[in-house]
Amino acid sequence: MSRTKSIKDVDLSGKRVFVRCDFNVPLTDGQISDDSRIVAALPTIKHLVAQGAKVILSSHLGRPKGEPNAAFSLAPVAEALAAQLGQPVTFIEDCIGEEVEAEVAKLAEGEVALLENVRFYKGETDNDPEFAASLAKLADAFVNDAFGTAHRAHASTAGVAKHLSPCVCGLLIEKELAYLGDKTNTPERPLTVILGGAKVSDKIKVIDALLEKADTIIIGGAMAYTFKLAKGETVGDSLSEPDFIETAKAAFKKAEEKGVKFLIPVDTLTVKDLDFGAGTVGDTKVFEGSIGEGWEGVDIGPKSIELFSNEVKNAKTVLWNGPMGIFEIDACNKGTFAVAKTIADSDACSIIGGGDSVKAIKMAGYGDQVTFMSTGGGASLEFLEGKELPGVSALDTI
Ligand code: AMP
Repeated sequence: MSRTKSIKDVDLSGKRVFVRCDFNVPLTDGQISDDSRIVAALPTIKHLVAQGAKVILSSHLGRPKGEPNAAFSLAPVAEALAAQLGQPVTFIEDCIGEEVEAEVAKLAEGEVALLENVRFYKGETDNDPEFAASLAKLADAFVNDAFGTAHRAHASTAGVAKHLSPCVCGLLIEKELAYLGDKTNTPERPLTVILGGAKVSDKIKVIDALLEKADTIIIGGAMAYTFKLAKGETVGDSLSEPDFIETAKAAFKKAEEKGVKFLIPVDTLTVKDLDFGAGTVGDTKVFEGSIGEGWEGVDIGPKSIELFSNEVKNAKTVLWNGPMGIFEIDACNKGTFAVAKTIADSDACSIIGGGDSVKAIKMAGYGDQVTFMSTGGGASLEFLEGKELPGVSALDTI
């Protein structure tokens, strides 16, 4: 089977390399409040510098809607990156045009420049061929290392690849493909998948795809309530999607046909008077099976925590996407944090599939005790669904 070429497969010394990074960092009053994305990009950049490439970095930041906006400038990233790299990073105040070309032409081997936000141009998200060609004029080769935007066919993630060669992935994307791809496609078994979050409709394609691979699938979060309805149970005031009851029934059936153990919560923590903004709840009650009228499910109950934890303990590979409850509120985070702890304690290969589960495992303090945390939310879901990611399929394969 072919695989995506990575920077380890090619020699980019002396070449001008256009590197699409994910520097979409959170800014508070112009200051970077979390630099993990900059830190995550360092291995690829250092590899290219060590090889003697002329490194031209590019990224988006926020949603400037296709026009320049100082609030979304990448200038603070250039400064932070230079400090992390321990070498100067030339910040170029635009990303296309003659002046940018002249600046880039000055780069010596092993030097690094960062272009201004590509989303200052509408052509970026439109994947406009002319804009992509202008970006490509700056370089010889393309490295994509922005997994978080790899599910978007944008000029700097896909369009630019048409003009450059070689086109390869960076070390971050290489890792994402290894864990979300190889390690879940040909896992060490048993493979236990834990899915949670708000909506069945958002994740049904993932459930469907994983029913082909997993030994056990565990469903938590509000998603579980639609499955409870499908079993004929009541869910009180809980968030559910009655339009997806038939879909849920089909998933139960497919699991049975495939011999996949398919678990939903056996008990539910419910509340009254939930105030998300204030982070408070009123009365609480645990229901086994059906949920009583007027009560809202907010987390899995203690018996489900035990049931799910035992499954995780027996797994050799664990893939987790989506919280077990409204983990943002203290009173509703026990299920999510218990699952996080069991995953952290287990010797299994543990893969955290992006978005809220990464946030939850970090909040629970176990961020450094898992095998891999994906950097993509939407991208990791689409990849797990088995969809082609334009930012990956634009790259060379071997
Ligand atoms: P997702 O983006 O689909 O992974 O969903 C994450 C969101 O699902 C989080 O913001 C959780 O608060 C929410 N969520 C999880 N369980 C519940 C629940 N029982 N009721 C309402 N929202 C929930």
